[in-house]
Amino acid sequence: MAVRFEDEMLILDAGMGFPEETAYGVDVCIPDFDFLEEYREYITAIVLTHGHEDHLGALPYILKKFNVPVYCSHFTAGLAESKLEEHGLTGDTLIHRVAPRDVVDIGAFSVEFIRVSHSLIDCFSLAIKTPVGTIIHTGDYKVDETPVIGEPIDLRSFRRYGQEGVLALLSDSTNATVPGRTPSERAVIPAFQEIFSEAHGRIIVAAFASSIHRLQIVLDVAQQFDRRVCVLGRSMQKNVEVADRLGYLDTPENLLVSLNEAKQMSDDEIVFLVTGSQGESRAALSQMATQSYKGLTIEEGDTVVLSARIIPGNERLISRMIGNIYKRGANIIEEKRRLVHVSGHASQEDIKIMTEAVRPKFVVPIHGEYRMLFRHKEFVKNHLGYAESNIVLIENGDVLELDGEHAAVVNRREIGRTFIDETGFEEIESETVKQRKQMAYEGIVTLIVIVNAETGELESPPEIVPRGVRGFDTTNGHIKDAQRIVAAAISGASRETLRDESLLKEHVRIELKRFIQRLTGARPVILPVVRQI
Ligand SMILES: [Zn+2]
Repeated sequence: MAVRFEDEMLILDAGMGFPEETAYGVDVCIPDFDFLEEYREYITAIVLTHGHEDHLGALPYILKKFNVPVYCSHFTAGLAESKLEEHGLTGDTLIHRVAPRDVVDIGAFSVEFIRVSHSLIDCFSLAIKTPVGTIIHTGDYKVDETPVIGEPIDLRSFRRYGQEGVLALLSDSTNATVPGRTPSERAVIPAFQEIFSEAHGRIIVAAFASSIHRLQIVLDVAQQFDRRVCVLGRSMQKNVEVADRLGYLDTPENLLVSLNEAKQMSDDEIVFLVTGSQGESRAALSQMATQSYKGLTIEEGDTVVLSARIIPGNERLISRMIGNIYKRGANIIEEKRRLVHVSGHASQEDIKIMTEAVRPKFVVPIHGEYRMLFRHKEFVKNHLGYAESNIVLIENGDVLELDGEHAAVVNRREIGRTFIDETGFEEIESETVKQRKQMAYEGIVTLIVIVNAETGELESPPEIVPRGVRGFDTTNGHIKDAQRIVAAAISGASRETLRDESLLKEHVRIELKRFIQRLTGARPVILPVVRQI
């Protein structure tokens, strides 16, 4: 999201997401930042609410295009820095670390950072004073009065703004369909204590690497039950390292052990804290369940705890992984069986607390799918007495104009997506993704044509090799027909076409493409190779 007043613009968060449909080898996508080009001179800063990937993941990519100062909390800065390091951007970026209740003047704006609770630590809402009024951007939040790490949500500051008058509340909608209050991070402690007291073998806990409160709970309960903890998986190790170094995690000496140390210990002395709660095939848990991860496999007597929610779209992967864990004879405990996970987002009663504290003129639901934004709107209308005209639904690309009196969507921009190849941190052209998709759905045909440079005649019959094209293969005589079509295309080609290899290539490609499409309805990728001898 970007907030602009005249010729000054702040960018709020820069996240990455996952492509909705399979994008063939693309793991993540980020917004196409080209739409910001026209505001290049206006952008003064990037302000981050917290360190989750969907708020921070695109930071290196946007900084490569717009190198402006970044404002964020200490912990968010820790995560941002390790990310920038991976991209070789350290030293080029100015990161300002801010604390709760800090107020920073950035041109026409003044931004106060308000502490909120979430599944991550050191998270902020932003109160942005603008010349036309104050807007509050909640970031991701829930109302947690007893977080595991740090202070509770700072409702007092929200109320202070409510008394002064707030023009608009841009508010997290992720859990707007969920009635009641979101439980505190502490709510999972009893279930963990039960599980630890019942387990006689090894315990393996899979959680989101960013759920720092949860990691602390696992460390605490492990200590209580005289177990050591071994952290596995790259992102989990990185986050534990950053949180520990910055003093957010309480890790008594000797509690954390290396994999080698863990292997020496007896089964009832160890807990593995691992990545892979979503069944990701390359992550630690999945590998332990199918083959082995650094010499570790899940065995009979192990207790596996899935301490995370199922992200929609991952159901099948997770279900298969759970099956594999059962096959190995281990016990598995997930959210549905015991309270081993709570959400980090505001449910309806949390939204009520926030909205009543801030008492904004306009409510703008943000974060989440359209269905959630809509339900957020309905809830605010039906339960908090807001008029339809004071709730604005916006989607990606919408330009919302606030003048102090009115709020209206005045423009709608097309915002594309940029695909990222995570192994090389490189952008993948959308054309490449399109080609991969076409090959996957329609197959591929190579066509090799050798012509005499003097006469322009075929030296040998065209070679046609299809792969994965439905109804067009080597068994049904279609290849012979296709060869005739290509041969005819060459004998009918003009002198000019025959002299120019690239023209000839395109000519035979189009003829073959038309033939296959007419014959089978398929539209494979056709790779023509033309050689003149
Ligand atoms: Zn978040």
